[in-house]
Amino acid sequence: MTQEEMWKAVKNNDERYDGIFFYAVKSTGIYCRPSCKSKLPKRENICFFNTSHEARLAGFRPCKRCRSDLLNYQPMKDIGQKIKKLIDSTFQVKMDINDELKSIGLTLHRINEIFKAQYQVSVSEYLNNLKLEEAKKRLIHTDDKVIDIAYLVGFQSVSGFYRFFKENTGYSPARYRKEKKINNV
Ligand SMILES: [Zn+2]
Repeated sequence: MTQEEMWKAVKNNDERYDGIFFYAVKSTGIYCRPSCKSKLPKRENICFFNTSHEARLAGFRPCKRCRSDLLNYQPMKDIGQKIKKLIDSTFQVKMDINDELKSIGLTLHRINEIFKAQYQVSVSEYLNNLKLEEAKKRLIHTDDKVIDIAYLVGFQSVSGFYRFFKENTGYSPARYRKEKKINNV
């Protein structure tokens, strides 16, 4: 998120951003969650923090009104789940998922941070694993052509898919199919 976006969230008391960042008011020494209903401070008096902990380290005290110290991290968790759902539902149709992710309203950097904190893998690792598992499944259990499988899991070229598959499994798709299908019978 840019500072402008954060400032906008503060102005609107936007609770969707609670847990995503905190703002602190230099003139009062207090930090709040974005949804705090206290009087809007002057733009030049506030600074932003990713966590409540960081705000406290910088010397700010939690706000008694919005209890910024008590914020559970549910909203952040919701966003993590939203990201995961988005990836799960679009990985087969989009090679580049970044445009979709931007609809969440955070920077890709922040999205990655939230996702990794929750699932211990980066967005791209998670995405690649989904593609790989789906491709393996189809190679073993269907007679779909490799080219069709490549497109189905979101690749725009067979060579890209081939390289990706080989890097991750050590097999070419055709070889993988041959070996695993036989073992599977
Ligand atoms: Zn507050």
